[in-house]
Amino acid sequence: MKTKHPLFNVQKHLASHLHYDFRLEMNGVLKSWAIPKGPSLDPVIKRLAIEVEDHELSYANFEGVIEEGEYGGGPVIVWDTGKYDYLPDANGLSVEEALEHGKIEFFLHGSRLKGHFILLKLKSRPRQWLLIKAKDDEARPGSEITEEYENSVITGRSLYDLQKEDASGKLKRHRCK
Ligand code: MN
Repeated sequence: MKTKHPLFNVQKHLASHLHYDFRLEMNGVLKSWAIPKGPSLDPVIKRLAIEVEDHELSYANFEGVIEEGEYGGGPVIVWDTGKYDYLPDANGLSVEEALEHGKIEFFLHGSRLKGHFILLKLKSRPRQWLLIKAKDDEARPGSEITEEYENSVITGRSLYDLQKEDASGKLKRHRCK
């Protein structure tokens, strides 16, 4: 069954290194890429996106602290979320086929990320992709969206707010499988 307007989200995650987890809903799971420098709205910027394991859909709006010692231990906030539309190319591939072929184009309807983006797999480099903003009306040359917006798009909290809440015992921890 196809979801007509599937979900995308970006979680900002301070594990051993700060990164942004970019996720696209596909076939009932969240396909996921870790982007060390985060997404950009500048079409000349190509951001490395490392393919990581699928996550459950229920993880999409998770904010909290993954326990120290667990994989990815550290605070997570939802940096952006919304729907996306897959943009089929001239060959008419399904989104799953496009993923398999190593090039997916889509239109994001987020609060911070909007417009046409491309995920392009690097040849001969396993799991390494590039996230690129296509040139359109939503492109913002010269901008750095991750510096303009640092906190949660849902709650306004920063990663450090979560760490403080966690230290005070107010926050639920998330155990990563
Ligand atoms: Mn992560």
